[in-house]
Amino acid sequence: MKTKILGILRQEGGGEFISGQELCKCLGVSRTAVWKAINQLKDAGYQIEAVQNKGYRLLSVPDILSKSEIESRLQAKWVGRPIYYYDEVDSTNNEAKRMAEKSPGAGGHGAVIVAEAQNAGRGRRGRGWESPKGDGIFFTVLLKPDMDPANAPMLTLVMALAAAKGIGKSTGLPAAIKWPNDIVVNGKKAVGILTEMSAQVDYVNHIVIGAGINVHQGSFPEKLASKATSLDMELGRQEPVLRAALLASVLEEFERYYEAFMERQDLASLMAEYNSLLVNCGRQVRVLDPLGEFEGKALGINERGALLVGREGGTVEVSSGEVSVRGIYGYV
Ligand code: ATP
Repeated sequence: MKTKILGILRQEGGGEFISGQELCKCLGVSRTAVWKAINQLKDAGYQIEAVQNKGYRLLSVPDILSKSEIESRLQAKWVGRPIYYYDEVDSTNNEAKRMAEKSPGAGGHGAVIVAEAQNAGRGRRGRGWESPKGDGIFFTVLLKPDMDPANAPMLTLVMALAAAKGIGKSTGLPAAIKWPNDIVVNGKKAVGILTEMSAQVDYVNHIVIGAGINVHQGSFPEKLASKATSLDMELGRQEPVLRAALLASVLEEFERYYEAFMERQDLASLMAEYNSLLVNCGRQVRVLDPLGEFEGKALGINERGALLVGREGGTVEVSSGEVSVRGIYGYV
């Protein structure tokens, strides 16, 4: 009911009153039920004005990631339907996997797990992801697709595209992609993405795509300071970002790109857009391959999501598995 009330109050542009009677009619509940829900919203930090004979209007919205706040903003058809919110989890990917494995009824295709903090946030290859309470958006999309498991790694690139697009649209920042799984803003990392899968040889049980977006941090631990940034840091003194609005925007983009990807289960239709946002494109890069490092010029991705790197003797297709890419002089 809170989701619906927020949706209705927002439809009024936030500025207009909506009468209690109209709310009751829209929701099919009593005035007392509406009043209770409004009070719960006020307790959660919403400023809602109530004026006799006029009704209610929304004055301001807190920066919270609650289920109702996200769901009332989300325009997606199936991604984030539903949202599962947690104050704190070990990692949202872990929670999504537990959900998919333990409770067959819960956690269907498209469910999104979101947390205010992670105490064991993870990056690739067992590395950690700093996930301080209240500063970021930590979320995972759970998917149960009919898909060849060999195609799953490309979904990291689909999420990267969605995150870059969503951040660009809702903040105006020049969010770019550092192949394959990071979003950088002005040369520093603002988002990390981690895709994990449970599969048999030819059958996907489920895939979880987790992302951590740095939003409100004002500084980072020393070891990260030179390569990490947050959206607020890049926006400077402007209005801070409302995390639920940003998350809704990223999820909507993800749904759109995922559907395009699934038509052929490759990146052919997304490649041009991905490459246009690729910060490495046209630059000299160092490929940190455990089998041997080398340098070359990044040329863009192919339809399987491999990074094409031009070097003497021809073009190399670099697959994402164990590899990281750096700029020659720094992180990008
Ligand atoms: P790299 O970023 O080194 O090229 P990667 O993309 O594979 O490699 P991930 O596994 O995605 O890296 O992310 C983990 C790394 O990101 C950590 O080792 C740490 O250096 C860095 N990191 C951890 N937390 C954050 C954060 N909140 N913001 C930015 N970077 C972080």
